[in-house]
Amino acid sequence: MRLRNIPGARDVIAGHEAVIKEEKQWKGRWDQVFENDHPIRLEIGMGKGQFLMQMALQNPDINYIGIERYSSVLLRALERMNALEEAPSNLRFVCMDASGIGEVFEKGEADRIYLNFSDPWPKARHAKRRLTSTAYWERYDGILKEDGTVEFKTDNRELFDFSLEQVVEAGWEVKACTFDLHNDEKMNQNNIMTEYEEKFSSKGNPICKLIAERKR
Ligand code: SAM
Repeated sequence: MRLRNIPGARDVIAGHEAVIKEEKQWKGRWDQVFENDHPIRLEIGMGKGQFLMQMALQNPDINYIGIERYSSVLLRALERMNALEEAPSNLRFVCMDASGIGEVFEKGEADRIYLNFSDPWPKARHAKRRLTSTAYWERYDGILKEDGTVEFKTDNRELFDFSLEQVVEAGWEVKACTFDLHNDEKMNQNNIMTEYEEKFSSKGNPICKLIAERKR
């Protein structure tokens, strides 16, 4: 998702208290940002933030950080947050490219990563840009705690099949997997839909989901 460049987006983002600026300085001490030691969960490529905002409202004892590379998209998430009666205190955003997460989070700092409807990058020559390619699984292992997990949802079957191959190649174990989340009673329990999930499931596309943990 890339929205038309929005004049002033960078200034709004820079002035918003939920957006963490100079994020690298918090590496190893994100608990100080939240002023508690609750678990930290990230959504990488969060788009307009519907999923993460609902998660934060439902789980006040868990801290959430949304990572989005485009300021124009993050701006939409901030507008959504501003429209809430009370902004959740357990939610922050970082405007950055996910390839740099190792410079922003210490090993063990995150306990879960959500990848929702990640960009497919369909051309073979762009495969390394996919957020579920082997190099990314290594990056995730570099910031997750020992038994931390990654949860990935998509309606794109080709991307999902690619991800299943890559996650195993990277030395992870697939703990759970479905090719039709909304008809899988167990995995769909407490499912929060993302914007893309609503859009594509309303067209009849089945949603795939995997949960993976690094083998030790
Ligand atoms: N997760 C949302 C959902 O399910 O509705 C948005 C999905 S949208 C297809 C993918 C989002 O990931 C876009 O907003 C895009 O800008 C962001 N994104 C893609 N690659 C990224 C990267 N390397 N780092 C940070 N954000 C990224």
